[in-house]
Amino acid sequence: MELFGYTVERVIILEDLKLGVHTSISGGLTKAIERASHLGCSTLQIFSRNPRGWLAKPLAKEELENFRRAHADSNLAPLVIHACYLINLAANDQETRHKSVEAFRDEVERAVQIGADFLVVHPGATKGASFEEGLDKCCNSIKESIRGLNLKKLTILIENTAGQGSSIGCSFNQIKEIVAACNSLPVSVCLDTCHSYASGYNIATDEGFHQAMKEIEDSFGFDQIKVVHCNDSKVALGSRVDRHWHIGEGEIGVKGFELLLKEPRLRKIPLILETPIDKLHDDAWNINRIKDIASYSSIK
Ligand SMILES: [Zn+2]
Ligand SMILES: [Zn+2]
Repeated sequence: MELFGYTVERVIILEDLKLGVHTSISGGLTKAIERASHLGCSTLQIFSRNPRGWLAKPLAKEELENFRRAHADSNLAPLVIHACYLINLAANDQETRHKSVEAFRDEVERAVQIGADFLVVHPGATKGASFEEGLDKCCNSIKESIRGLNLKKLTILIENTAGQGSSIGCSFNQIKEIVAACNSLPVSVCLDTCHSYASGYNIATDEGFHQAMKEIEDSFGFDQIKVVHCNDSKVALGSRVDRHWHIGEGEIGVKGFELLLKEPRLRKIPLILETPIDKLHDDAWNINRIKDIASYSSIK
C-alpha cells in the first residue's frame, strides 16, 4: 500500500523516528537547546561540562534556570547527557578510580540538576586486570558515585565499546554481565552502532545484523536499550578502533542503517548521532541521511 509515494511501512518508520545529535554547549547549555531545535531534532545529547578535564565549574543558578526553561519549552525528549571521557569506573589503579568516582558523582548531580533522563558512560578500562575485576570495580564505582543521592528520573546507561586497549564492554555479553551486576541500581544500556561494528558485529550485512540482534536478545535484551548512538564507522570490522563517520559513508554503509531503521525491536528507541562535523558533511546532512534512509527515498 502506498501513501504519498511511500509504502505504509516507510511512513511508520519516519513517524516513529526519535532523532537527535550530540549538540555543542559552546556559549552555554541553553545554546544546545537552540541548536537542536534549529536542526529539527526531537531529542538531544549534550555534555554538561568540558568533557576533557577532571574538574568542572558548578552550574550557575541562572544558567540552570535558563536551561530548564528552554528545555521545557522545546519538544526535545529524552534529554541525554554523555559523561566526561576521563572517567574510568573500572580503573585498576586506586587514584584513577577515586578521581573517576568523584567526577562521576559530579556528573550524576549535574544530570539531576539539569533534569536529564539518561547519563551515558563507558564502562571503563582495566589496564591489565581481568574482565571480572573490571566489572566488579565498575559496579562498585557506580554504587559509590550515587550513594545518598536522589536520582529522580535519571537512569545511567552503560555504552558498549569498540574494545580499544583494555576497555571492557565490547561484547553484548559483557554489557549484560555489567548491567546484571548493577541490578539494584538504575542502570540500563546505550547501544553504539560504530562501537558494535568496530568490536566485530557485522551489522552491515543481513546475516551479520540478524546475528547481532540475536545476541542482543540472548544477552541484555532489547528492553534494556534506552538510547542508540547512531554512527557509521571509519574503520574496518573488528578493528577495535573507535572512529565515528558520516552515516552511510563508512564501513557500515547505507545497508547497515537501513537494517537498523527497519528493525521493529529498535523502533521508537531514541537515536543520537555522534557524527563528525567536517569539510565533507555536518549535523544537518547526517540527520537528512537518516531520514532519507528511513524513507528509502533517493540516496545518492
Ligand atoms: Zn557513542
Ligand atoms: Zn565512539
